[in-house]
Amino acid sequence: MPLVVQKFGGTSVADPEKILAAARKSIRAQQEGNQVVVVVSAMGQNTDLLIELASQVNDSPPAREMDMLLSTGEQVSVALMAMAVHSLGYKAVSLTGAQIGIHTDSAFTKARIRTISPDRIRKLLSEGNIVIAAGFQGIDEELNITTLGRGGSDTTAVALAAVLRADACEIHTDVDGVYTTDPRQLPEARQMSRISYDEMLELASLGAGVMHNRSIEFAKKHDVPIHVRSSFSDTRGTLIVSESESPTAPVCGAAMTRNEARITIQGVPDKPGTSCEIFRQLAERKITVDMIVQNIGQADRADISFTVPKEELKEASQAVDLAVRSVGASGFTRDDDVSKVSVVGIGMSKQTGVAQQMFRALATAGINIQMITTSEIKISVLVARDEALAALRAVHQSFKLFHKSADAAVWDKLPTRKPASTDIDKLVADLYVADMEQLALSDISMSDDQARITLLGVPDSPGLAADVFDAVAAKGIFVDMIVQSYDGYQGETGISFTIPREQFETCMQAMDELKQKFSVSRVLGSKDIAKLSVSGIGLRSHTSVAIGMFEVLAEAGINVEMINTSELRVNVVVASSAGETALACLKKRFAKNLM
Ligand code: ASP
Ligand code: MG
Repeated sequence: MPLVVQKFGGTSVADPEKILAAARKSIRAQQEGNQVVVVVSAMGQNTDLLIELASQVNDSPPAREMDMLLSTGEQVSVALMAMAVHSLGYKAVSLTGAQIGIHTDSAFTKARIRTISPDRIRKLLSEGNIVIAAGFQGIDEELNITTLGRGGSDTTAVALAAVLRADACEIHTDVDGVYTTDPRQLPEARQMSRISYDEMLELASLGAGVMHNRSIEFAKKHDVPIHVRSSFSDTRGTLIVSESESPTAPVCGAAMTRNEARITIQGVPDKPGTSCEIFRQLAERKITVDMIVQNIGQADRADISFTVPKEELKEASQAVDLAVRSVGASGFTRDDDVSKVSVVGIGMSKQTGVAQQMFRALATAGINIQMITTSEIKISVLVARDEALAALRAVHQSFKLFHKSADAAVWDKLPTRKPASTDIDKLVADLYVADMEQLALSDISMSDDQARITLLGVPDSPGLAADVFDAVAAKGIFVDMIVQSYDGYQGETGISFTIPREQFETCMQAMDELKQKFSVSRVLGSKDIAKLSVSGIGLRSHTSVAIGMFEVLAEAGINVEMINTSELRVNVVVASSAGETALACLKKRFAKNLM
């Protein structure tokens, strides 16, 4: 019999009426011939209220007691939901995390699931019950109650869908699907019929707050199709699966992260180990660092810029202050009036001219780009905050995201999962003996078929990046990594990018022509580079990967020339003479994490 996991978030169970409505949905799913597991969050803002309550008796409540308290929110919801099902004449049993058999580590308030023993759920389902499972909670080895971090009910739902090999994992929420961008910011945003895990991971980390990030990592790893849909209607929502909506569209969505801050560390001695030291200081304080850009060093000194969430700027500054002193940099500047605008799409990894199109759209709107970073499936730019909305609109418009492309997937039915034979069941059961949420890397590799081009002394004005990449695209050159650094105090900036090595001469020529036209002071290029990549899932929530890469390379005395990071991959560019050594060191360091 097909099995469906339905998750209802806090807003979907906010009052008795809504609980009854959710109960009806679960009954309907059962009537349609499914076994049904319902996962619920705490009612409405209850978790926030509990946190507030805790703060009134203790400024820093012990984490263990916090989890004891917070888990009650979900316990209330499951009981009420089961009662609601009963009142409508059907059978339901509610279970807490411990009763479901969700075993976690002991990291209170942010525990990770280790194993799930689904026997009890299976038995209850086979007896005709709708099983109502408490989201967000588990139990550690000592039977302490743990919670999975804010928004953790999504993870519970996906994890249960994975172990039970559910046919669908429905996330019922207050939005009716995933949009090309936040519809509250741009009313022309369009609901997608389908989005890939990778794209969703990138968009979610950019603040598209549809689902808990870790739950998507999890779904990808265990191949769980997710269906995001409205709890208040029966309309079809958005499927999150392995394929994107359209096989040809370069971009599927755009996002704006409004409250960012930029830090630039100036005059960093350009030698191995310095970036490692800087980012270790930040990591120790659990500061989320993004858009890391390092300029090619001039006179053995480099500038390193990066962004942090605006509210973490104060702490980040303290960390940076220490780092500046310990690495002997000359100082740092910061700006808390910036926003990040990004586009995401699997399609861009196979097409030329995508970056150029984005930069051109911004140039036409008269918007200055302060920094650029890219990853395989994402391009991010930093702009002044008062221009961010216009920037978002310009790129959303330019890629026609409001318009469903002709080859977009049509929504007919859920992808069918392979039927689980008893053997597969056993395999799956074995799998869960290992940590379900452990860092899993899929690949560590080196490519030495690229070349780097660097433009220095580029005037920092709207349209420059567009002109540069127009010139590159005009030659049909595929651009891979792009970084534009911030260099406000001289009114100039530096842009570096990588291209296929065999196109190096063509590209250098194009850049020389450009140099005549604009006042670009220097064009540098190197064919002697190697790009090292560590790929996997959830590299953002496991920040240790980027730090570990810096550490390993620093220990080996290897200088990092360029960096880019994403949810799925961290890339660094080093001199090609150091490539093999760097690869060996990385493989050694991360061997235990390879899947
Ligand atoms: N109730 C928890 C929270 O508010 C878990 C969840 O809603 O997913 O974070
Ligand atoms: Mg919630």
